[in-house]
Amino acid sequence: MNTLPIKLSGLESFETNANSNFVNVGERTNVTGSRAFLRCIKEQDYQQALKVAVDQVEGGAQILDVNMDEGLLDSAKEMTHFLNLIASEPDIARIPIMVDSSKWEVILAGLKCIQGKGIVNSLSLKDGETEFLRRASIVKKLGAAVIAMAFDEDGQADTLERRKEICSRAYHLLRDEVGMDPSDIILDPNIFPVATGMEEHRRNALDYFLAAKWIRENLPGAHIIGGVSNVSFSFRGNNRVREAIHSAFLYHAIEHGMDMGIVNPTQLEIYDDIPEDLLNRVEDVLFDKRDDATERLLEIAEKYKDEGGLVQEKKNQEWREKPVKERLTYSLVKGINDYIDEDVEEARQLYASPLEVIEGPLMDGMNVVGDLFGEGKMFLPQVVKSARVMKQAVAFLTPFIEEEKKANKDTKQQPTILLATVKGDVHDIGKNIVSVVLACNNYKIIDLGVMVPTEKIIDEAIKHNVDAIGLSGLITPSLDEMIYVAKEMESRGLNIPLLIGGATTSRLHTAVKIAPQYSGIATHVLDASKAVTVAGDILSDQKSTAFIEDLNSEYDQLREQHANRTNKKDLLAIDEARENRFKGQWEDLNTQKPAFIGNKYFNDYQISELRNFIDWSPFFRTWMLTGKYPHILEDKVIGEQALTLYKDANALIDRIVEEDLLKAKAVIGFYPAAAVGDDILLYDDEEEKKVLTKFHFLRQQSRKRTGQVNSCLSDFIRPEKVSGTDYMGLFAVTAGIGIEKMIEEFEQNNDEYNIILVKAVADRLAEAFAERMHQRVRTEFWAYADTEDLNNEQLIQEEYRGIRPAPGYPACPDHTEKITLFDLLKVEENIGIRLTESCAMYPASSVSGFYFSHPGSSYFRVGNIAKDQVEDYSRRKGQSVEKTEKWLASIIDYNH
Ligand code: SAH
Repeated sequence: MNTLPIKLSGLESFETNANSNFVNVGERTNVTGSRAFLRCIKEQDYQQALKVAVDQVEGGAQILDVNMDEGLLDSAKEMTHFLNLIASEPDIARIPIMVDSSKWEVILAGLKCIQGKGIVNSLSLKDGETEFLRRASIVKKLGAAVIAMAFDEDGQADTLERRKEICSRAYHLLRDEVGMDPSDIILDPNIFPVATGMEEHRRNALDYFLAAKWIRENLPGAHIIGGVSNVSFSFRGNNRVREAIHSAFLYHAIEHGMDMGIVNPTQLEIYDDIPEDLLNRVEDVLFDKRDDATERLLEIAEKYKDEGGLVQEKKNQEWREKPVKERLTYSLVKGINDYIDEDVEEARQLYASPLEVIEGPLMDGMNVVGDLFGEGKMFLPQVVKSARVMKQAVAFLTPFIEEEKKANKDTKQQPTILLATVKGDVHDIGKNIVSVVLACNNYKIIDLGVMVPTEKIIDEAIKHNVDAIGLSGLITPSLDEMIYVAKEMESRGLNIPLLIGGATTSRLHTAVKIAPQYSGIATHVLDASKAVTVAGDILSDQKSTAFIEDLNSEYDQLREQHANRTNKKDLLAIDEARENRFKGQWEDLNTQKPAFIGNKYFNDYQISELRNFIDWSPFFRTWMLTGKYPHILEDKVIGEQALTLYKDANALIDRIVEEDLLKAKAVIGFYPAAAVGDDILLYDDEEEKKVLTKFHFLRQQSRKRTGQVNSCLSDFIRPEKVSGTDYMGLFAVTAGIGIEKMIEEFEQNNDEYNIILVKAVADRLAEAFAERMHQRVRTEFWAYADTEDLNNEQLIQEEYRGIRPAPGYPACPDHTEKITLFDLLKVEENIGIRLTESCAMYPASSVSGFYFSHPGSSYFRVGNIAKDQVEDYSRRKGQSVEKTEKWLASIIDYNH
């Protein structure tokens, strides 16, 4: 053949060879040619847009054409954005890109984004020779191949002669003037529609064929391309006929010398499969054989009309043809659960026992997932979807395994890890994620759920002879509970490794407080991705000795550092600290009276309103995707994952709203208030000032630099001694009423992905509710900032006046103040949040706290406190020092 191989590259190099004399260029990523793709881009649904690209590649595209030329789009921006997205998709980016635009600046923008050597589609002589040469030189310098379209100063080439003339001129300019390698020159002699009913279109296909032949014979080395779909334009809506026309056209064009085609590779029918009657009439049209060729094709087209395009479906299902083991791996890695039951059944027939299906092909598949996750090639949401497929497979096999067990067969032992959220704590998103990740790595998980008493943890661990115990907890009292678990394990003579995880846990706390209680291994696990490594180290015969040695020396060091630091801590006496309090300038401050005194309940708050106030960044963090919303959606590495999650979350919220699945309830209250020392008194009204209740707060005791104060929340309320009335607000909100039912539904489908998703979404809605209610309090119910006008970003940045500190958080670390708060607001009776013995709120998706309106109020961390404050605080609360020490263990260091 009179042509040279074309050498291009994406992430991988690409070269035509003697065996393949034709190159497919995927056409669907083109906004002018695909309405579906245009919609994706217009709606910024890049996830779907990427899917279009993946489908093209999977369907056989060897090069991908990308076109963003649409009037309403900022084409250069969209080109840049989409090509950057593609760059982080190795499945797509491995092939070369064809940057397609009629605008030069868009082409330049595109060329800047692609890696490897791509193709410019296209240049033409439309704007004259000088401009053509200028642009071609730039393309050459940028190292791309180029398509020259048969278009010149006088317009498009629409006859054979004009095609020859322009192609020849372009070719010689590119080769002789610009100095391009002929193999980088691709000529497009224009594919135009046939069977349009217009006389002048009758030779459109034929002239292209003949032009191709002529080029092949006269312009050595050049490639010949064309956009194939154009030829069948007049049969829009009849895919069956269009596919037949494309296939026949290609067949003949290739025979005439065409060697590249911009096509939809997923829809190429095989020439020999075209029914003969249809083929005959198509070829009559293509070769302009009869005057009535068009009518005759139209006639027969009716007959094929409703068959639709069948090729697409067939091509996408190619993986279904593979052996069952590969199909199982494919389903697991891609998280597809459509075929899992049938494939597992097929495997069951093949293997000696159902258990072997799990231990063989399914575990192998999950190992692939585990490896990809470990290498950072898969992300947590994908892994959770894989686990969902695995769970479904195991659920399918379980009845068979049970049956086999009855037949008394012994089963192989997988390492088993028991997981539990400790007593008093209700949070389990993190634990569920760890469970999924470990399960993907060949561990058997026994998950005891939330609020699990120590005795039960130990009993179950012994009963199941587990290899490790993982404890989880989110709130500070759980730290204490974990110490208790360690002590109990010790007293019962256990030696099972203990893994510690959860938001407030730390290496330091584990080393200083937990590990010394237990003679077995007790180690902190930072997050789910570390769980696999740690479990692997502990449970491997070779590695565990080294691991234990390292751990012991690391923890010894931490303990030593901690002891030194604690001895040196520079804490003020509580009286000194009070002297250095934040001073409120009360004389100048007018305190605004709230719209009502007492409580106000919201029994069914619109979730459709709350969703607009969501702070999404923490949502992605839950899924181990770090970055700030909305930029995270465009992140090169994790953007796709983030976008899928974001869409899944929003679809779930849509469902929650439409089907009324979750109820959001709230209570807010306002009371006249006065500070007495570090306490705050609340009165039932402004005149009689009968004391309703009292809140107790803690003060920072560490020595401050000059100019800095030792804060306590009571500093933000007018002291009793100062005349005038002040107010404090309180609130509790939840978005978790009804969540159990949703979880149950997902559990039945073994759908861990949606279980984690619904919990994460409900948490977000609760925080959004807290944010929205706070806004309404400032502008409406208390109205001390009634002209405030902040957008969501500003709300998240807390650019407003006033704060809403929450008990259990750093400014008021004592969770038990929630008991007083809940009593006053009658939270449990009226909005259905209850407190566990550790003062965790159930449903977990709840927020409660105080409102302070003082313009100088701000968040702070109480930090470490000294013994004199512990005693003082105990006196004020009317409880023993011991009890205070128990609840505040996480911030008290003085006697440890
Ligand atoms: N936009 C974030 C807000 C989380 S902070 C999100 O959606 O997750 C959660 C709550 O903690 C706030 O609503 C506030 O009530 C409280 N808070 C923050 N810092 C605090 C502190 N230092 N002391 C006490 N409460 C605090």
